[in-house]
Amino acid sequence: MTGTPVRLDLSSPSRGPRGKPPKHFVDLTPEQRVEAVTELGEKPFRAKQLATHYFTHLTNDPALMTDLPKATRDKLVEGLFPQLLTAHRTQTADKGTTVKTLWHLFDGAKVESVLMRYANRTTLCVSSQAGCGLACSFCATGQLGLTRNLSTAEIVEQVRAAARSLADGEVPGGPTRLSNVVFMGMGEPLANYKSVMETVRRLVAPAPDGLGMSARNVTVSTVGMVPAMDRLAKEGIPVTLALSLHAPDDELRSELVPVNTRWSVDEALDSAHRYFEVTGRRVSIEYALIRDINDHAWRADLLGEKLNARGRGWVHCNPIPLNPTPGSKWTASDPRVEQEFVARLRAHGIPTTIRDTRGSEIDGACGQLAAEEDE
Ligand code: SAH
Repeated sequence: MTGTPVRLDLSSPSRGPRGKPPKHFVDLTPEQRVEAVTELGEKPFRAKQLATHYFTHLTNDPALMTDLPKATRDKLVEGLFPQLLTAHRTQTADKGTTVKTLWHLFDGAKVESVLMRYANRTTLCVSSQAGCGLACSFCATGQLGLTRNLSTAEIVEQVRAAARSLADGEVPGGPTRLSNVVFMGMGEPLANYKSVMETVRRLVAPAPDGLGMSARNVTVSTVGMVPAMDRLAKEGIPVTLALSLHAPDDELRSELVPVNTRWSVDEALDSAHRYFEVTGRRVSIEYALIRDINDHAWRADLLGEKLNARGRGWVHCNPIPLNPTPGSKWTASDPRVEQEFVARLRAHGIPTTIRDTRGSEIDGACGQLAAEEDE
């Protein structure tokens, strides 16, 4: 079902040269915010006021920050709050509880985010890059190639907008808070390490400098960029790490996830295990079940063996039926095959839960984000 577009904004985005988005208040550290405000000739305490409006009241429009004098607001809007994202289109599914937004960025680049409300949590799936350079063969974003990295503020703005929409009661079920953020939209988060890490800091920092979310409710999903995974382990922010494995053997994985020729299955699993050892956080293994390609019982067994070879209790598996992308020759596994795959993993003692495919009918499910223009 394609729902009624909400907050449709058809104003054309400013099309500057591709490149760095303008600096935004959210890109700055709390210290830099004070400096920036002072440089604009304002009192240092204005920085904290702005941060409270942004992160606590979820307002990105200083014109609404009426406790600041008008002249101050105008100056701050101009200097520190460029409009980075414009909601170009929203689509809903699941009776309005799944909302996909197509954002236009300042330079005409496009990304999508997907908000999903469940009985006991709300999850936003964010994009960290426009397009993606890793070319996984089953992923719609992977077919686009990489346009560019998003800035910290461009990612945080996706989160703020979703949190605001939930607080305003725009998603059926009454006003609520955003509880989870997953970096499972467009892009490879660890290929945009700096901005993604700064985003994580904004998400977990307590008010007024951040959204005060729990690190465990933030999931960074990666194709397995080993040096970056190891670096993430040492950040001291125990986010949940998800490794997109999709095959337990190098031969097949190199076909599905080309970066495997750089970091093999074993190297990626070793790094994932180190992540668990350093952070104590159980790692998720993502596995898109593709009919007759990677869903064989022997591959479930091999996966179970490889995970157990590294220890017990450090990992859980999240198979997901493939969401077919346009033109793909592949399709999701037969449900019986899927059940057998899960049963085998469980028989090896690996906690396994099938991930849902929310939003597939609005092309908002995992691997379907391609930010097409309106047809
Ligand atoms: N680049 C990161 C995050 C983005 S994709 C990563 O690869 O982990 C988020 C998840 O969706 C990944 O596990 C990815 O492999 C999976 N995915 C991609 N295409 C898919 C598809 N067509 N069906 C199901 N899952 C898919």
